[in-house]
Order: sequence, then C-alpha cells, then structure tokens
Amino acid sequence: MSIEIPKTQKGCIFYENHGEIFYKDIPVPKPKANEILINVKYSGVCHTDLHAWHGDWPLDVKLPLVGGHEGAGVVVAKGENVTNFEIGDYAGIKWLNGSCMGCEFCQQGAEPNCPDADLSGYTHDGSFQQYATADAVQAAKIPKDADLAAIAPILCAGVTVYKALKTADLRPGQWVAVSGAGGGLGSLAVQYATAMGLRVLGIDGGEDKGKLVKTLGAEVFVDFTKEKDIVKAVQKATNGGPHGVINVSVSEAAISQSCDYVRALGKVVLVGLPAGAVCKSPVFQQVVKSVEIKGSYVGNRQDTAEAVDFFVRGKVHCPFKVVGLSELPRVFKLMSEGKILGRYVLDTSK
Ligand code: NAD
Ligand code: ZN
Repeated sequence: MSIEIPKTQKGCIFYENHGEIFYKDIPVPKPKANEILINVKYSGVCHTDLHAWHGDWPLDVKLPLVGGHEGAGVVVAKGENVTNFEIGDYAGIKWLNGSCMGCEFCQQGAEPNCPDADLSGYTHDGSFQQYATADAVQAAKIPKDADLAAIAPILCAGVTVYKALKTADLRPGQWVAVSGAGGGLGSLAVQYATAMGLRVLGIDGGEDKGKLVKTLGAEVFVDFTKEKDIVKAVQKATNGGPHGVINVSVSEAAISQSCDYVRALGKVVLVGLPAGAVCKSPVFQQVVKSVEIKGSYVGNRQDTAEAVDFFVRGKVHCPFKVVGLSELPRVFKLMSEGKILGRYVLDTSK
C-alpha cells in the first residue's frame, strides 16, 4: 500500500529562542532507512515545548525548530530497514525520537539517558507539523481503534508520570502527593496513581484546578495560592506526610518544599524542569528522615507500552481541549500563565 505524500505541509516553526512562531508551509521530511513518516493528526502541547522555545535548559535546541513530542497519527511511508510498522498503522511521536542502542544505558533499557539521544521537538523536528519522522524502534505503537486526539497526551505526559510513579516505588494504600496536579502531567499522574491503588493528594492553584483534580481521583486538594503553610497542610491531610511526591510543577520553591513535607523513608521524585532550578533539601532532615530524592526522565519502550495500555483499558484519560495547530502561540501564552486545565491538543488540519 502506498499513500500519496505532498511535498509541502503546514507546520509551526521558530528560528531563534523566544522568536516569532510562524505557522507556514514547510517541506515534508523524508524518512531515513530506519525511520517512519507519520501523518500527524493531533499533537499535545507539553510544557517542555515552552521550555524549548524559551531556551530554558543547558542543552541547545536545533534551529530552526519545529517543536512538539506528543504526536499521534498514521504511518504513510517507511525507510527500507523498518520491519515493525506497516503503512496505515497508527503510530506516536515521543520525546525520545531515537537513541544509539549501543551504549551502556541503551543496553539496560534506559534509552532516554543515552548521551546521543535524539529528541523530538528539540534536536529533531517534532509533531507541530502535519508530517514528522521518527526512528521506528522508538516510535510508539498505537492500537488501530484509538482516539488519536485523546491518546496524544499519553505519549509524553502519560508515559512520564507512569514511569515517575514506578520510580517512587509505592505500595497500594500509601499516600502520594502530586505537586502541579491540575496540569498536563499532573492530571494524568492523579489518575495513574489512583489506578495503581494509591491515595492521592493534589497541589495546584485555583478552584477550577481543585475541582478537576478531585474529579480525577484525588482525596485531598491543597491550593498553593491560598494555603499559607503548605508543609503543615500536606502533613496533616496525610497523617504525617505522603510516602512519595511526584513533582510536576514548574516551581523551584514547590520542589524544595516537597523535601520538607514528605514522610520519613519517603521518596521525592523530580520530574518538572523549571529553568535553572535547584532542589534544596536540609541535610539534617533528609538524613534523620532517610528521604530519597530521585530524578525521573520520560520512560522507555516498555513503560510506553504499559502507559498506553492503561489508556486503552480506560483507566486514564487526560482532560483536553482541541484547537488548531496555528493557535500554538496562544496555547503557549495560556500555559505560561498557568491557565491550562489538563492539556491542549492541536489539530494539524487547522
Ligand atoms: P503544565 O503547565 O501543564 O502544568 C504545570 C502545573 O503546575 C500547572 O497546573 C500549574 O498551575 C502548577 N503549578 C505552578 N506552580 C505551582 C506550585 N507552586 N505548586 C503546585 N503547582 C504549581 O506543565 P506540564 O506539561 O504538565 O509539564 C510540567 C513540567 O514537567 C515541565 O517543566 C516539563 O518540562 C516537565 N516534563 C518533564 C518530563 C521528564 O521526563 N522529567 C517529561 C515531560 C515534562
Ligand atoms: Zn513532554
């Protein structure tokens, strides 16, 4: 089967960090021997895309850049070495576009930690375009009857928080605090945690986010814009502090605070990546409470398959709003103001 592929397409592209984002005609990329070409139907907008545009991190983006790494669509072409996808299959663009597969990290399934990792919407043009390429080894498998708009946020936000929860290594019945619970990653973290049998306390700002977080399964909501003593409030609600914390806020202060309110023997998982942030933990407290602080970075192929499976079984569903691809600048503005409940998903046909 072959599908006709145009020479040009619509995409969102920027030429310098913080520079204007142009919605315009750009060439359709050609897949290399190991790659598939995906006709992206929908793409989630992750806060990482905003960090990439701002140039927030000590890792350069390719320029010019087409961002995006939560792309869901249909395989329309493939390189000659690709054996695991057929034309017409559904496939997903993830943050980890490809890795060397030969280093010690790839060898143990920690492919995101590969020093030569190729990143969608960062070092490799991503899913804010109608056609995007992905290494077939890393591209996500999406079941044929899946709703492509609804599954898009799973490809980064879902995989990331699912892996972070596994990293926290908690038991059913234990408390987990999700800091940043009303955003894209947070709203999914609340649901994965609930599905895994954990008791969830969500932290975010505003009544709308509080309502949402509770609907998604959190027993308790702490509003950081209203609560004067967050550490005390969290410890009181969880009878001594949560056993684990998933930090998905974009707030340095919130991250350090989580080292204070976590329970003795608890695990603080760092996921959110505010620009230049440092996690401060008082050494005395950390020692006598024997707290673990762990970083968690997206997930590997198996984590992806498991995270997708929770979605397919109806256990998680990121609340999302669909708007046209051309509206990316507006979505970035709302995101930087902390005004997004769940995710915005871009329809690439508009
Ligand atoms: P988002 O903007 O959708 O959500 C962030 C949420 O944090 C918002 O709801 C906001 O209101 C809330 N928040 C802000 N200040 C807070 C505070 N002081 N306390 C509690 N909540 C607060 O962003 P997102 O797309 O969910 O991404 C979150 C972060 O995770 C970003 O930094 C992103 O780059 C990072 N990320 C990391 C990985 C990884 O692999 N480690 C993967 C994806 C995204
Ligand atoms: Zn992301």
